[in-house]
Amino acid sequence: MHIDDEPSKKISVQRLAYSVQKNKNRCDCFSCPLNAVRYCILAQHPLSCYRTFMRKILCSILLFFPLLLEAQTLTVSGLKGSVQVPTRTLGSLAFVPASSFAQAYGLQEIWNSKSKTLVLQSPQTKIAFRASSTCVWVNGKILRLPTRAKMVNGRLFIPFESSSKIFSPFHRVPTSPKKETPPTPPSSKPNFVVVIDPGHGGYDIGARDRKGLNEKDINLDVAKRVRDKLSSYGIQATMTRSRDVFVGLPQRVSIAKSARPNLFISIHTNAARNRNVSGTEIFYYAQANIRQNGSSYQQNRLKSYQLAKLVQYHTGKTVRSRGVKDARYFVLKNATYPAILLEMGFITHAWEEKNLNNPKHRDKLAQAIVQSVLDYKARNK
Ligand SMILES: [Zn+2]
Repeated sequence: MHIDDEPSKKISVQRLAYSVQKNKNRCDCFSCPLNAVRYCILAQHPLSCYRTFMRKILCSILLFFPLLLEAQTLTVSGLKGSVQVPTRTLGSLAFVPASSFAQAYGLQEIWNSKSKTLVLQSPQTKIAFRASSTCVWVNGKILRLPTRAKMVNGRLFIPFESSSKIFSPFHRVPTSPKKETPPTPPSSKPNFVVVIDPGHGGYDIGARDRKGLNEKDINLDVAKRVRDKLSSYGIQATMTRSRDVFVGLPQRVSIAKSARPNLFISIHTNAARNRNVSGTEIFYYAQANIRQNGSSYQQNRLKSYQLAKLVQYHTGKTVRSRGVKDARYFVLKNATYPAILLEMGFITHAWEEKNLNNPKHRDKLAQAIVQSVLDYKARNK
């Protein structure tokens, strides 16, 4: 019967043999730390003890794992040139000897075997690595490695991916006096801001002429011309809408308020049942000083009136005027800035309808509005 066929007997025989012969018959073939001695004593020949053999293999793998995964070389580039360094891979990380950086960066290398610490230093920089530690001290500041530094064949290996961070002090540009950059002025409000509010839009077409032209499109076209002309004079123009979309009245007021404008101009086209009615109408909120206490509202009322009169004057060169009027339109009565609403003419009047369909006429109207703004600006410096 082979000894391996009966475990209980095997153990007792082993113990006996071990106690008697432990100092006489020690296996000298294996130095495996996993106490393989007992099996070897009984087996007499080391290779016949398969368990010991397997353990020996396992020990070798565990102890020399990094060595087994020797990879190719990597190039480490430092201030003093490039160095080819051997790498070891463990998992997905490539490790390189920390000392190889000494040559690449021209550093002095000091190894303390007692504390297992490697110091690489130059007159300005000191970098310290310690075996089995994730810490690296760079000029006294601790950096963390993704995994511990490892000792392989008496050399300290560190993860290659951390090297650029560790050696970054060497790559810093020497301190030179910073180029003087002119201080950027704080974002200040432009000199003059005009909010242009093309009436209607989207499903809200406004008035409609007999040929199918909608008020919303005329308003937007003139508003865009005003915006472009104002911009050419260096005046910032903000639109409450710049395309064919519906924008509610509260939203229009909100857009205007956030632009903190000097002036607000709402652009509309009129319509009436009586097809003989023609001419421009310019509205402002005349009760501003009655409904709202405060000098700024009164100021706004006066300024609104001033602008309305200017628009009446300049548009009057092209279209007859029906006058400057008071109205409690939403965009006017909620204004915290001088505000007017211009009705550019009647789409229901044959002659004016023809004019409003004409881009040249619309451009004249836009120019009249812009000239009014320029005059207003000149008078309110
Ligand atoms: Zn309208």
